[in-house]
Amino acid sequence: MSKKVWIPLLILAVLLIGYYALFMQAPTVEQSNYEIQLDQMRKLTDGDQLPEAINSLIIAEGSFPSAAVVAGESLFSKSPLVFSSFQIQYGDGKTIILDTAHDKRLQEENFSGNPFYQDQFDKMQAAMLKADSIIATHEHVDHVGGIAQSPNLDKIEAKVHLTEEQINGPTIEAAEFPKGSLEKLSALKYDTIDHFAPGIVLQKAPGHSVGSQLVYVRLKNGHEFLFIGDVAWSMRNIDERVGRPGLISWFFLHENRDQVANQLTALNKFKKDHPEVQIVIAHDPANLEEIRKDQGVGSDFQ
Ligand SMILES: [Zn+2]
Repeated sequence: MSKKVWIPLLILAVLLIGYYALFMQAPTVEQSNYEIQLDQMRKLTDGDQLPEAINSLIIAEGSFPSAAVVAGESLFSKSPLVFSSFQIQYGDGKTIILDTAHDKRLQEENFSGNPFYQDQFDKMQAAMLKADSIIATHEHVDHVGGIAQSPNLDKIEAKVHLTEEQINGPTIEAAEFPKGSLEKLSALKYDTIDHFAPGIVLQKAPGHSVGSQLVYVRLKNGHEFLFIGDVAWSMRNIDERVGRPGLISWFFLHENRDQVANQLTALNKFKKDHPEVQIVIAHDPANLEEIRKDQGVGSDFQ
């Protein structure tokens, strides 16, 4: 074969291999080494004065190409995203805020041109002032940004309970906490599983980030929820057991892809074995719509 022919063929082959590695492939496992400790979550919350409601607020919206959300999907279709905050409400008026999205400036930087709801951000900030605790599924900017950029950070810092992995993780920097403020937070320390509050259990789930955790919430009406943060960005990640493509995992998120693959397989099985527990995916708008419609999750904060 002449040089003229094989050089373009070689370039084509390299491009195809590169495209496959960056966009088409994510590790999958048949047997997960990650166990979602539902029995323990239930045992720990037995006899608790359980919370009575969960409310949600959409702070911002955005979208990614579907190829960035699920490896192997199209580069040309879009997957919509929501950036939400949740309020867990007790009968005695106590509340816990879970995840806080990010502020307008960071929305413009990361998702320019997509909606940002300043009124909802302000409402979340007011709810954080009144809340008893503020926690996060993980330490990424779109989950702790509302804390870092809070106009009331000095007033809420005593009730912010980020884990030691979240505070010390390499990716929290992007949330741009004011200088010295992270050091003032008292780190939440636990081994694998933590009975954080009545009806609420945390379980470590490192992979998407070092500080990722599952948040189990059991309500007085019997409804159970498992907030998984960004282990998946879409229910398709769980249903198909396919994670994000290498381009996103390696270069943008610095994920541990094996841990995520094990968690996706565990969640796939969990969803089949425990349809009574509602999985909540942080950024999946269809999932949010479903929990609002079918599980009575409020669409406004109290
Ligand atoms: Zn996120």
